[in-house]
Amino acid sequence: MCQEDELFIQFTKKQFEFFEPYPSVARRFLHVVKRAMEAQSVEEVNEVGLNCREIINDYAQQIYSCEFSTDEVKSGNTKQLLKDTIDYYTAGDKVRPVVTSLNSFVDKITRELHSITHSSSVYPEQAVLAVNLCITLITSIESLVLISERKESPIFEHFGVIKCPKCKSLKLETYSRFDEVHDELYYFVKCKECSWEEWTQ
Ligand SMILES: [Zn+2]
Repeated sequence: MCQEDELFIQFTKKQFEFFEPYPSVARRFLHVVKRAMEAQSVEEVNEVGLNCREIINDYAQQIYSCEFSTDEVKSGNTKQLLKDTIDYYTAGDKVRPVVTSLNSFVDKITRELHSITHSSSVYPEQAVLAVNLCITLITSIESLVLISERKESPIFEHFGVIKCPKCKSLKLETYSRFDEVHDELYYFVKCKECSWEEWTQ
């Protein structure tokens, strides 16, 4: 394998790491990459567009918490789920200037994917475009918004979460307990909403 190929594979793997915290998103994504490489007919390209919309909706539902919004957002409203998440994590933050562009990016990408899904005059290249839009949106939100959020969170450092994995609440509390019998210190994280709990040493 030549050096360029090697480098390209490394880069692709690096991008795929953004998907790994979300196993169902990662699985669907691998599936759609294969479909996009094979897509020839209008129907096949439409289907890739639809799959990409489903991936982004799945991702949006996983990063969203109902505590981000004052009004109820329906789980199918991908755009609003993403925008409320972006707004929440960037409120008053140094990355604030990128928020407006990130929000209009969400609009553009969802619009483009909608058109790829429903248009009867699409080209096979648009299947690849749909996959690229999907990658761009998710890696942008992950790298601009969620990485800084995780870095500043001691809970993430110890438990790998920034909100409850069960009910998505942000109301997590931590405490530690010393076990004198085993002479070990244990750290706990607990969700105040649903009582989900996890511990580590
Ligand atoms: Zn919970």
